[in-house]
Amino acid sequence: MSVETLDIKEAARGEEIVSYDPATGEALGRVPLLRVEAVVRAVQAARAAQKDWAARSFRERGRIVLAARGIVLKELEEIAALIHRESGKPAAEAISMELVPTLDLMQFFARKSVRLLKPERVGIGQYSLMGRSSKIIYKPLGVIGIISPWNFPWAIPMGEVVMALMAGNAVVLKPSELTPLIGLKIGEVFRRAGLPEGLLQVVTGDGSTGAALVEAGVDKIMFTGSVATGKRVAEMAARRLMPVVLELGGKDPMIVMDDADVERAAHAAVWGAFANSGQACASVERCYVQSRVAQKFINRIVELTRGLKQSAILEEEPDIGSMSSERQLEVVEQHVQDALSHNARALTGGRRKEGAGGWFYEPTVLVDVDHSMKVMRDETFGPVLPVMTFETEDEAIRLANDSVFGLTASVWTKNISRGRHMAEQIQAGTVMVNEVLYTHGIAQAPWGGVKESGLGHTHGRLGLLELVQPVHVHVNRMTILRDFWWFNYTPRAAQLFRGFARRFATGNPLQTSLLLPSMIRRYFERRS
Ligand code: NAD
Repeated sequence: MSVETLDIKEAARGEEIVSYDPATGEALGRVPLLRVEAVVRAVQAARAAQKDWAARSFRERGRIVLAARGIVLKELEEIAALIHRESGKPAAEAISMELVPTLDLMQFFARKSVRLLKPERVGIGQYSLMGRSSKIIYKPLGVIGIISPWNFPWAIPMGEVVMALMAGNAVVLKPSELTPLIGLKIGEVFRRAGLPEGLLQVVTGDGSTGAALVEAGVDKIMFTGSVATGKRVAEMAARRLMPVVLELGGKDPMIVMDDADVERAAHAAVWGAFANSGQACASVERCYVQSRVAQKFINRIVELTRGLKQSAILEEEPDIGSMSSERQLEVVEQHVQDALSHNARALTGGRRKEGAGGWFYEPTVLVDVDHSMKVMRDETFGPVLPVMTFETEDEAIRLANDSVFGLTASVWTKNISRGRHMAEQIQAGTVMVNEVLYTHGIAQAPWGGVKESGLGHTHGRLGLLELVQPVHVHVNRMTILRDFWWFNYTPRAAQLFRGFARRFATGNPLQTSLLLPSMIRRYFERRS
């Protein structure tokens, strides 16, 4: 197999998908729709390129990632404008929520992967008294398939591409069909940074292209997307015994205790629920406020929500742009309608934005909601902030845990030890105290969900470890002795094994030392 970057246009044999600006409906471009054969070729070419890459030092790999970082920084405005146009989010938000975290992630993994993946000595207790030692070394897995969603079309795939490359792997990236131009831009940035030919392949297409990638013989899939698709990916991967990381949906609760800074919590709730039009896996999807401060908190979030600017026009400096697709907007409409039909009230919003053209939904605050409603159970993934009240800490924790999801959660209180204590009781991959939404942006810390929110991690050392094969290397330097437990199992050997059970297995060297006479007898028995 030659080392080449697939010419996806030629490989697609004329089949295409169209990328649209969701704020205007304008077609932004056409990209190839790749089928099975082309995806398999991309994986084979990536594998051919990986061997040389794995042999390079961390420093050499890091140099290329930092060169790519330089290009991203230089073209910051252009990339932010592309993200704005293809996803509908304001360019300012593309910079703050996608580009800043990625630039930090790039410098972090370019510099620190060498330390994070350093071979590790493992303490092996009393076995080390017998001249043995153990180390874990971390080897690249080979080819990593990355399947990514449209909601953070730059930050999610870029972060995983960087981590996979730094770990010594090749990558085949399948960006969302709604945001393929951003996926191709990631490939272009690395090509210009001098990444070896073939090592990063971007295969554009739809769900069938993603499924083809899962079946194409990669060594691991990093999947980010919906629970339904994640389960399908896991099933396909299980048939091949291929590992997967699944970063799936969320229904993230925010708990506001009555000793919280209500003003700050209100600002956080509004940003946490409405940033990216609420289309973040870690958006505040459910808010619980303690009754004593509920009215004050609700009044304030309604006031702040009404003050948000929603527009597609960058010159108007919008806070909220359009949603990324009509399909998602319809989910939001269904959830809000379901709640209103069960006596919930919309204090602001509750409908599409009039005369806006694209897929705009007004930021919405709902009250009088309960857990029988879709808006409190299923992922809404839109600009909706439903608020319930509670009386006690236990009730708040019970409500927060009453969900099939467990991605992030937040607790708001001035009493930090109470916040930590509550955090320990909440079922989620990340629990924040007095913070909301943003921790995916912390490259140094792990990211991952529990329950239906996913499996495994990305980011941080735990995320990097997903992209390598740990190998236990065990060495015995004391080669003059045969191990006591080798053949033959004479009565004396069996007696010694009983001694091991009673004494060695206590982990106490003093106890083990009492076995020395039996060991010496076993040694001479074998020599005779
Ligand atoms: P999606 O599941 O529809 O699509 C995700 C990706 O999977 C796309 O690239 C798509 O083409 C591909 N795909 C579709 N069918 C496939 C198949 N059968 N096999 C393989 N790949 C297939 O999700 P989406 O609508 O793009 O993204 C929104 C979802 O992603 C939300 O549920 C959100 O919570 C979740 N998400 C989770 C995280 C996280 O970190 N946990 C981050 C962002 C988004």
